[in-house]
Amino acid sequence: MRLANLNGRAVLVTDEGVVDVATASNGAFSSDVDKLLGHLDQLVKWLSSARIKVSEAISPDEFARNPLLGPVIKQPGQVFAIGLNYRTHAAEMGLALPGKPMVFTKFPSSVTGANASFSLPSERTDWEAELVVVFGKRGRDVSVEDASSYIAGYCVGQDLSDRELQLQGSPAQFSLAKSYENFAPIGPWITTIDDIPHPNNLSITCDINGVRRQDSHTSDMAFTVPELVSYISSVCEIRPGDIMFTGSPHGVGQGQIPPLFLKPGDVVETSIEGLGSLRNVARARG
Ligand code: ZN
Repeated sequence: MRLANLNGRAVLVTDEGVVDVATASNGAFSSDVDKLLGHLDQLVKWLSSARIKVSEAISPDEFARNPLLGPVIKQPGQVFAIGLNYRTHAAEMGLALPGKPMVFTKFPSSVTGANASFSLPSERTDWEAELVVVFGKRGRDVSVEDASSYIAGYCVGQDLSDRELQLQGSPAQFSLAKSYENFAPIGPWITTIDDIPHPNNLSITCDINGVRRQDSHTSDMAFTVPELVSYISSVCEIRPGDIMFTGSPHGVGQGQIPPLFLKPGDVVETSIEGLGSLRNVARARG
């Protein structure tokens, strides 16, 4: 099941078209994606049992380009992000793989939707295609075996990063450099976990102006999704509506020879197998 935030309202994105959840259920379900996260089982059941009329007949791929698509979670409480979690990406950055997950945050005000534009704070703004986990349940000290029961679903994420700020001093400045306005596009929808049983078996790509720059697979992660959930929950309580960026594969601009960064007008298209794609455009600052 695909669950999206269309202009602030929860909609289901079926192969036949789009369904406004609150309207089609006569108010039985909330119009707010965040409030539905704890009731996804019921929603899946309702969707399969009810004869539902779509409010707009449109293919998922076409709908993904709707400019009114907001971030799948409007205001995540916590945005976890993982650095250097793909073997090939650590190598291109000239850094060793961390022995434990390297965790930082993208501040929640940087979150935006699938088709939003973002401005460039410097001449060294970079792309990072990432699988994003959406949490559906509160928990601490979650075991690797139980991790999936805390996950509502997955979406595509783009961890835009300003290398100028990130790498201007030592140690590196991760969280701020990755939290400029609209630096955290997520979407186009949440694909619920029943449709994605193996999050570490998905192809992941990023195209810049139609040229493929990242072409990898989530099986290259150093720490798997369940391992990341377990590790983070050993420190922080995870809560419904929290999200986690799980790290970027190789092929970022910093790793190109010579390095290549985003210019105004560049189109960043981020895709993950079975989860859809984001299309975000860079613009000049100001
Ligand atoms: Zn990243």
